Amino acid sequence: MKRKLEGQVAIVTGASSGIGAGVAKALAGEGASVVINYSSSAEKAEKVKEEIQSAGGTATIIKADVSKEEDVLAMFQETFKQFGTIDILINNAGLQKDNKFHEMSLEEWNRVIGINLTGQFLCAREAIKEFLRRGVVPERSRAAGKIICMSSVHEVIPWAGHANYAASKGGVMMLMKSIAQEYAPMKIRVNSIGPGAIRTPINHAAWQTPQAYKQLLKLIPQKRIGEAEDIGSAAVWLASDDSDYVNGITLFVDGGMLLYPGFEDNG
Ligand code: NAD
Repeated sequence: MKRKLEGQVAIVTGASSGIGAGVAKALAGEGASVVINYSSSAEKAEKVKEEIQSAGGTATIIKADVSKEEDVLAMFQETFKQFGTIDILINNAGLQKDNKFHEMSLEEWNRVIGINLTGQFLCAREAIKEFLRRGVVPERSRAAGKIICMSSVHEVIPWAGHANYAASKGGVMMLMKSIAQEYAPMKIRVNSIGPGAIRTPINHAAWQTPQAYKQLLKLIPQKRIGEAEDIGSAAVWLASDDSDYVNGITLFVDGGMLLYPGFEDNG
């Protein structure tokens, strides 16, 4: 049977750890050639590449800080040099710089917005230019290109102590919907994944100790933390023609976190 992403090229930003690494492996497992983007840890990126290659997949590593325009342009040029084009962009890179709002520095605000929101803008713009130039290649996909933005349940759940992060994800939601609307006529699909709590380095404090984990489970009706593979399989679906009529949505992958778990026991 033909794999779902055979012959397609994907860039996954922030793919040296956590969700990005899980998504990169899942896309490669369905036949995509994957660009593993990283900004700081070359060794971790190398490990992801080795895992993909030892499973028979194709991957390359490109360093770029997604908040810097020149880095993003260079990453796309290098991708075109190595693979010719791009079919799938996974806008995943992100971070938290938490603080009480009244103590939040402009640096903490700008850094989170710069990577989580402006970084997604810069990468999406370059991907869309290439999708428009190349158009649909029917042997590969019914779409001219697919963008998947890594958002969060915090695009809708307010988050005290994390105003910069929640604002960045609320921004990602409207960025995603606006470009989905703008380019749907050109057969470009843009969607988001909204993870709940996924076991990665970004939130290790929330699952590291048994007490923290017990507290976390109060927020998750399914009573387990998510794994990077849960997001990987959602990303494969959104990137493949199985979801060809899906455009401009956020697919929440959160074990029910958005179901007002405080009301589980009659409120
Ligand atoms: P993570 O810290 O393991 O991964 C984030 C990745 O982004 C890292 O590899 C990091 O090096 C990279 N990165 C940071 N700044 C960068 C930059 N300037 N340029 C390029 N790469 C950069 O955490 P994660 O949980 O895997 O996070 C991935 C995405 O998922 C983020 O956008 C995050 O907001 C989102 N998310 C995570 C969770 C969760 O529970 N883990 C929940 C909701 C949303």
